[in-house]
Amino acid sequence: MKLLISQITETPKELDFAETPDELNRLFSGENKDFSFPDPLRVHLVHYRSGADLFFHGRVETVVEGHCSRCLKSYSFPLEKEFDFVLAPDSTAAKNKELNADELGLSFYRGEEISLEPLIREQALLALPTRPLCDEECHGLCPRCGADLNEAECRCGDSHADPRMAVFRDMKLHQ
Ligand SMILES: [Zn+2]
Ligand SMILES: [Zn+2]
Repeated sequence: MKLLISQITETPKELDFAETPDELNRLFSGENKDFSFPDPLRVHLVHYRSGADLFFHGRVETVVEGHCSRCLKSYSFPLEKEFDFVLAPDSTAAKNKELNADELGLSFYRGEEISLEPLIREQALLALPTRPLCDEECHGLCPRCGADLNEAECRCGDSHADPRMAVFRDMKLHQ
């Protein structure tokens, strides 16, 4: 979605639109395949201006497919994030060089229109968990036999199943 800056007025306006998740899917197509985005990002946005500063408040929603980092299974979860951001004209950036734009929660615009896709994409990224887990308690896969420990205990953790442990069992018996 692109917004003409001249259409942003002091009277708040509401807007509902969808962004394709293509760029997000590209981000997670290389080394990091933690998440994929099967659905569009649905966005509800309120925008208005105060002087040359543009204010945005809204919500982004979609469904994300995570790929559990422990058991490697895919699972779906809803992503929902509220956001606020302010865009100031780029000339202010030059004047306020000493101020850290990030700390102020400010970004900058230039030109006639604003492309909302990168801003929405960043909000979606911020809402993702640091690593995908199908469940906080996911037991993962056994590093030895690869069994899914959520479904059944494998016998690798059972010392009786490993003949190399026999020597320790014998030692205990003689103590
Ligand atoms: Zn898992
Ligand atoms: Zn095992």
